[in-house]
Formats: sequence, C-alpha cells, structure tokens
Amino acid sequence: MSGFDETFDFVVAGSGGGSMCAALVARSAGKTALVLEKTELLGGTTCKSGGVMWIPNNPFMAKAGVPDSLEAGTKYLDAVVGDHNDAPGASKARRQAFLENGPRMLDFLMGQGLKFSRITSWPDYYDEAPGGSVPGRTVVADLFDANELGDKAALLRPNFLPMPVSLEDALQLPHVKKSWPAKKALVRMGFRIILSKLTGKRYVTAGAALQGRMMKAAIQAGVDLRNNSPVKELIVEDGAVVGVVTEKDGKPWRVGARLGVLVNAGGFALNQAMRDTYMPGSSIINTSVTEGDTGEMIQEMMRHGAAIAQMDSFVGSPLTMPPGAEHWPMKPGVQGVTAAPHAIMVDQTGVRYMNEGGSYTEYCQRMMERNKEAPAIPSWAIFDNRVMKNVMIAGTMPGSKKPDAWTESGYLHTADTIEGLAASLKIDPATLRGTVDRFNGFVGQNNDADFHRGAREYDKWLGDPFHKPNQTLGEIAEGPFHAVPVIPGDVSTLGGVVCDEKARVLRADGKPIKGLYATGTSAASVMGRTSPGSGVNIGPSFVFGYLAAKDAVAAG
Ligand SMILES: Cc1cc2nc3c(=O)[nH]c(=O)nc-3n(C[C@H](O)[C@H](O)[C@H](O)COP(=O)(O)OP(=O)(O)OC[C@H]3O[C@@H](n4cnc5c(N)ncnc54)[C@H](O)[C@@H]3O)c2cc1C
Repeated sequence: MSGFDETFDFVVAGSGGGSMCAALVARSAGKTALVLEKTELLGGTTCKSGGVMWIPNNPFMAKAGVPDSLEAGTKYLDAVVGDHNDAPGASKARRQAFLENGPRMLDFLMGQGLKFSRITSWPDYYDEAPGGSVPGRTVVADLFDANELGDKAALLRPNFLPMPVSLEDALQLPHVKKSWPAKKALVRMGFRIILSKLTGKRYVTAGAALQGRMMKAAIQAGVDLRNNSPVKELIVEDGAVVGVVTEKDGKPWRVGARLGVLVNAGGFALNQAMRDTYMPGSSIINTSVTEGDTGEMIQEMMRHGAAIAQMDSFVGSPLTMPPGAEHWPMKPGVQGVTAAPHAIMVDQTGVRYMNEGGSYTEYCQRMMERNKEAPAIPSWAIFDNRVMKNVMIAGTMPGSKKPDAWTESGYLHTADTIEGLAASLKIDPATLRGTVDRFNGFVGQNNDADFHRGAREYDKWLGDPFHKPNQTLGEIAEGPFHAVPVIPGDVSTLGGVVCDEKARVLRADGKPIKGLYATGTSAASVMGRTSPGSGVNIGPSFVFGYLAAKDAVAAG
C-alpha cells in the first residue's frame, strides 16, 4: 500500500453505534484505530436516541432473575423475523451471530469500563410470539457526566431528552399524578438538577449517556476520534478496500487501513433522491435522524460492488405534525395517544383498520398498506376528552390549552358529538358513529375482536397502567371529542448493504469485498423489515461492529 498521508490498522467511517465498540476491539488487540465523523458532533443518531440496546439473554436479566436463553431468543427471532428470501440482512446465520454475540459484546464493553443496566419493564413488541419476553431484553447505559470527556465534551451530540433523568425514570414521569414510583422519579430528577448546579456536573442520558461512555472508553484506549472528517471515497486496490479518502483542512487526505474499513455511517433517511428511488412517496420531512444520515456511504459501497437489500423499509415512527413541526428536529410521536384508553385511529372514511398498539414499524407499514385500499395517510386519531386531559399531544402538556393555530389550520378538530367531529373531518357521521360504537362494545367485553388490541402485554404497556381492566382499552364516550392527523414517519432506514455474519460486505454473488465491513443502518438490518423490540437498531449496530473488528484482527 502506498500514497497514504497516514495509516492505521482499522478505520471506521462514521461515529454511529458500533463504531467505537469496533475501535475498542481493535485497540484491545493492540491495533491502531481511527473513527472519522463527517459532522461537527460525535455519536450520530445513536447519541440523540433512546440509546436502548435489545440484547437477548443479557447478564442483567440473569442478575434480576428474569428468565431468558439463547434458545428463547432464537425462537423469537425465528418467529418474528423469519427466513425471508427478500431480507438477506436477516439471514439465519446473521440472526444467530447477533444472538450469540450480544452478551459477549456487553461483557467486552463492561471490561472496558462501560456501565449498563436494564429497564425493568419494556416488553418485546411481539411478546405473545414463541420466545417473547414480557419484562423485555433492553440494556441501557447509566447516566453519564459529560464533563468526564474533558475538552472533548463539547463534541458529544445532544440527546432528545435534555434532562438529567435515567430512561427508567423518564418512562415513569407521564404517570406522576397517579403513581408513587413516578413521584419518586421526579424527586430524583429534581435532586440531580440541584446537584448539577452545585457541583457543575453535566448529566446526559439515554443515547448520549451510551455514546458519551463509549467516547470516554475510546479516548482512554487511544482511539483517534475525529469530527468534521467526512469519508469521501473508499480506496480499493486489487479488489480489496485498503483505505479511505477523507478531508483535512479542506483538502483530500488519504488514510490507509491495514486490516480493513468499517462503515458505520448511518442510513439514507435524509436523502430525498434515494427515498424517491427506494421508498417512493416518503419524505425527509418526516424523519428524526441527525443531519449526517444522507446515505452517501451506502452509495460508495455500491460503487465498489456491494449488494443492497431491504431498501424499501424503515423504522416506523407514527407522527402527528402540528403547524411548524416540519422544522422540529424531533418530530412528535402519536402512538401514546392512539394506544391510550379512550382513543382509536381511523382512515379518512372513518373506518378503524388496525391495532393502535404494537410495534411502531408495523403500525406505519399497516398505514401504508391501508392507504392502497382507502385514503389513510393521514389517518385520524380520534379521542375523548380524558385523553386530552391526561396525555401529551404533539409535545404539549396534558390538559394544557392548545395553540389557536392548531384549530385555525385544521390540525386539531373538536366537537361535542362524534357526529359533529365526523362532519368536521368530512367523514360520513354514521360511519364514524358505527366505528366508535363497535369499539366501545369491544371495550365492554375487554376483547377487541377486530384487531386484538390489548391482548398482548406490549399494547397494555403503551396505555395507562392505572386503567382497569385493560390499560389500553377505554370507551370513547366523554365529550368533547377530538381528532388530530397521523402520518407514518421514521427514525431510521432499515435497508443498506448486504453483510454476512462477520459483518463483511457482500457482492451480489455472495462473496465478501475484502477489507470492507458495515454495521448499523449502513447495512441491511438483521431484523429484516421488523422491529421485534426496543433497541433492535442500536443493539445490532454494536454487535456487528464488535464482530467486524474481531474478524479484521483475526484475518490481518
Ligand atoms: C429519537 C430517537 C430515538 C431512538 N431510540 C432508539 C433506541 O432507543 N434504540 C434503538 O435501537 N434505536 C433507536 N432509534 C433509532 C436509532 O437511533 C438508529 O437506528 C441508530 O442510532 C442508527 O445507528 P447507526 O449505528 O446506524 O449510526 P448513526 O448513529 O446513525 O451514526 C452514523 C454517523 O455516521 C456519520 N456519517 C455519515 N456519513 C458519513 C461519512 N461519509 N463520513 C463520515 N461520517 C459519516 C453521521 O454523521 C453519523 O454521525 C431512535 C431514533 C431516534 C431518532
């Protein structure tokens, strides 16, 4: 190899979920490692996110006496993801590699000083499926004081939760009026705010705690982390990837990679041209990813022969967009409204067509399927006044007065009767009345005979834990009645380059491109087109980053 401005053993393009995990593996084998991040800030969408990793059979479950096993995880992914020929990212071999290496990856990171715990209750999204877990398989990083990063603290990307609260506590806060654990969570947060003021600590949570802790470990281990360093090209010699072209001081800078290059540069949620090609009809406006998620590294890998798959799929995020929300970096979710008791969702003809609980990815897929039969984008969240009083709507506090612009723009509709609401929505009043009456009948029987909402634990988890007998089923009966539009948004794309169980990037003929690895949303997801539980994007990104570096070190 020649003509490089500098050379490392292992080079990572993008500072996503698996990037620093991979770099730490390389460092632990005595190899040099460089992470190149295009934007000003490190950590990617992972840093902004919940930071939850879905790791079946993780050590925190065993410690808490929560049953799980490799066999249960296998059964579950077999049932929920399955062997689809059109989802090669989710091959049986990759699913197995993910399941077997998740706990090993965690052990490795804990050995590097990382601190994790589990959320005590976050059911798998198909908990009723064979091998499903009701307590859930989530792992999160403990709160982190960003000051521990010293002069690199300013490079850590902010999280969507700008509060010093653990995710476990944050999940309690919406129930603060009714729940003692929630009140305690609020007190803990208040105490931490005071402590931060007194001591100067700067707690970050969720994805920023995860990536902050990863940055700290990476810096301590001697990983070279560089921001404002876009990877522009892969350098290929004799069919093998041997380095990258990045930028230094605005000029091209060639970096050699003796053992290989890992691409962890996100998906293409902000690339409208790629959306138009692979997900026609979808828009960059309805995503909450960070600004670097523009897909060019997927295109660069394709240029060198990488196969792609699952490009039509995304991690769903049901949204409601009040006026101005198209400019919000975090688009407002709405499943907490439609899965609350006393709420449903209907298409534009007033017909209910799905379980309003369940996986957010499936929720959005169902909206799009329905839209082929009847106008369903947007659909309407229909709810009674109890939801208005008790649930956050588009980022506003429960029960708060809603902005006048909401009604003036036709975003929020309100009427004293269901028929009046239907008229306001230009829906046939008898149809909407019939839909609501039918749902109310199911509530009386505690059995949603049409769509089985509330039969699985995850549906209930999305509802109100204090609502009896079913946390997600309640009559729509107390006026005034309200409606807001619902659209299928996203928090990531699921398609990317096809990789094998070692995270090696494959050509269409199934042969690996020597020296090239991919993980995270740059790769076609090991979950196929599904979201089986919370953390199924970040967990695999870490695991396949871990495996990529192991393979590169072993092969080198
Ligand atoms: C609010 C929110 C909450 C979420 N919560 C969760 C959750 O709890 N658990 C979960 O599993 N998923 C969650 N998701 C989805 C999840 O965050 C993403 O799917 C995941 O973080 C993607 O990680 P990644 O490893 O692909 O890389 P990313 O974290 O997307 O990082 C990729 C990085 O590569 C950089 N990059 C891009 N191109 C280049 C280039 N050419 N050169 C150098 N760098 C480049 C980007 O700027 C970016 O920093 C959430 C998403 C959002 C928006």
